[in-house]
Amino acid sequence: MAIAMSEPAAGSDLAGIKTTALEDGDSFVLNGQKTFISNGINCDLVIVVAKDPRESNPHAAVDLFLVEAGTPGFEKGKRLNKIGWRSQDTAELFFADCRIPGENRLGPKGTGFKNLMINLQQERLICAIGAQTAAEFMLEETIRYCRQREVFGKKLTQLQNTQFVLAEIAAEVTIGRTFVDKMILEHWQKNSVSVEVSMAKLWITEMAWRVADRCLQLFGGYGYCEEYPIARAWRDIRVTRILAGSNEIMKQVIARAVTK
Ligand SMILES: Cc1cc2nc3c(=O)[nH]c(=O)nc-3n(C[C@H](O)[C@H](O)[C@H](O)COP(=O)(O)OP(=O)(O)OC[C@H]3O[C@@H](n4cnc5c(N)ncnc54)[C@H](O)[C@@H]3O)c2cc1C
Repeated sequence: MAIAMSEPAAGSDLAGIKTTALEDGDSFVLNGQKTFISNGINCDLVIVVAKDPRESNPHAAVDLFLVEAGTPGFEKGKRLNKIGWRSQDTAELFFADCRIPGENRLGPKGTGFKNLMINLQQERLICAIGAQTAAEFMLEETIRYCRQREVFGKKLTQLQNTQFVLAEIAAEVTIGRTFVDKMILEHWQKNSVSVEVSMAKLWITEMAWRVADRCLQLFGGYGYCEEYPIARAWRDIRVTRILAGSNEIMKQVIARAVTK
């Protein structure tokens, strides 16, 4: 499956999407373009965010539509060539007079935007969990490497700089784990913690990016080589500050809550 929200001219500003779904008898006709869609190539079914062109309220106009691969008018575009997350396909999708049955609209008319917003808490939490576990992995790998690498006749772990860097990273990683575990529990109990989850997404993805860079540095030149998993981890972590709502959008969400 895939969920297609982002468009070439509308990523952060979801209300600005241009893809339309026009009701026509007992079906909908979709027209528009999506980009950056995870699983876009592999998916059999995609949830498409589209607007009713006859509805003037931008939020009430949005609905979610199920489109099956192979439906005439639905074309998968090229697989995007990314600097990280290479094992995951990310693609453009195109809809040209793509007719789908009326029953393929998810939920009652005008509920798409609300449903998207409700589920963002889970999406952002998943992103925070991914970044947290990546940071833990990078720390473990780096400690393992520093234990065996010798410089100037000493193990890297015996140098004070290495010890201080690893101590700082370990403290940050432990703080991140404590917070994300709390968020998992809150989410599991169906509590509304979207602001706190936005804080987790913001802080943990920024922390994981710092961790990636500092860990790679401890590997020296080997860290810059694909043979070492730290190189891939460094490439892969970058995107977590951009997707699932960029970290600037997280700051907006948090600022709105703390200043109201
Ligand atoms: C690997 C990958 C997978 C993805 N998977 C999916 C997917 O499955 N489905 C999907 O729909 N989308 C997906 N996306 C898209 C992703 O959600 C968007 O890239 C993201 O929301 C940012 O939108 P944008 O790229 O259009 O950047 P823009 O919205 O153009 O933002 C550009 C810059 O401006 C900043 N900015 C934007 N608005 C503000 C503001 N109000 N104040 C301050 N700064 C601002 C942003 O933070 C960013 O730094 C994916 C992206 C990537 C890279």
